[in-house]
Amino acid sequence: MAVVEAAPMDVEWMNTTPVEDKYETLGVVGNGVYGTVYKARDRETNQIVAMKRLRLDDDFGDGIPSHVIREVSLLRDFVHPNIVQLLNIQISGLSDYNLIFEYMDMDLHRKLKSYRQNDELMPMHDLVTYSRQLLDGIHACHIRMIIHRDLKPQNVLIGPSGLKICDFGLARICSLPVKPYTHDVVTLWYRAPEILLGAQKYGPEVDIWSAGCIIGEIAKGHPMFAGDSEIGTIFKQIQLLGSPDDTTWPGLTQLEHWKDTFPKWSSTKFKPIYDSRPEMGEQGLNLLSNLLSMNPTTRSTSRRAKNHPFFAQQTQLLAQQSMEQATQQGQQQAPEQASQERPPSELVEVQHQVQQTGHQAPQQIAI
Ligand code: ADP
Ligand code: MG
Repeated sequence: MAVVEAAPMDVEWMNTTPVEDKYETLGVVGNGVYGTVYKARDRETNQIVAMKRLRLDDDFGDGIPSHVIREVSLLRDFVHPNIVQLLNIQISGLSDYNLIFEYMDMDLHRKLKSYRQNDELMPMHDLVTYSRQLLDGIHACHIRMIIHRDLKPQNVLIGPSGLKICDFGLARICSLPVKPYTHDVVTLWYRAPEILLGAQKYGPEVDIWSAGCIIGEIAKGHPMFAGDSEIGTIFKQIQLLGSPDDTTWPGLTQLEHWKDTFPKWSSTKFKPIYDSRPEMGEQGLNLLSNLLSMNPTTRSTSRRAKNHPFFAQQTQLLAQQSMEQATQQGQQQAPEQASQERPPSELVEVQHQVQQTGHQAPQQIAI
């Protein structure tokens, strides 16, 4: 995929002009913890943008809130096709912060909800493309030492240019050696078991766990571990993956919230996923089991995950299917008409991807 060239970011520090003079608000697209996101139009260039208007606490005396500093500092020079592009920051007063992003059509949460409402699953082609792009985005964060810490379908945007990760309000740079981080991160259903069980240290593996939850959710059509509490979530994880012990996860029993009295379940070997989506095949289930390893030290890295053979295999399979469909269509048409037609653009694109990714050996490196 082509790397997007970033235009130099225009930072309008303490611009006294109200943000409305520069951007016309067209409607609300999202309401988050820290503010409201609007679809807006740049009055000068007509570009459609997303404007994240940050709600600041009344006791502003403490200075700029840490989540604003985090999001701006991490995103301002971050240019990657799978990370939402921060275009501008407009500060129109002491408590009026507006982050201007490229606009995306919808988030993954809404997309999956609309499939659910129609009793459908996301087509396999999109599952493969979005899963790979999600892992590419996570890898781009991890090689910059950024842990996102709040990956969930609401923070994953979808548009004609593909998938982009957004909302870096909880992200942080993982400095070495790893310090104890706050436990109150990552929405419950996407939270890694080590955080739920009270580990004092954690690292980029928490994002890999969330990626496994998201890819599993796309495959199944429903959230993987929809617990109503921390303990409820950990039980749902164990029910699917089997109970860990000190052999599969050395140090487990020393974790603050681990109890030897937890029910013992054996692994389902991802049967519920296979039952709702047999096309995932063995490779798909293998990818999920690498991402959803309860023991963080045996969990896949983003590099290994994005190079998992599942992607090459699926791309090849989908190309084959498109080719068969094209042949069938061609046979139904008059021969001279068929010969004038070009192959479907999707097929060309998939064939190109096969050439790029085919038979790539998974690499074993730290990130
Ligand atoms: P919060 O920190 O408040 O959760 P987010 O950055 O996650 O803020 O934005 C909240 C919601 O707004 C997202 O879940 C998504 O639906 C929507 N949104 C965010 N950024 C964009 C964007 N660039 N384009 C379109 N919609 C967006
Ligand atoms: Mg969010």
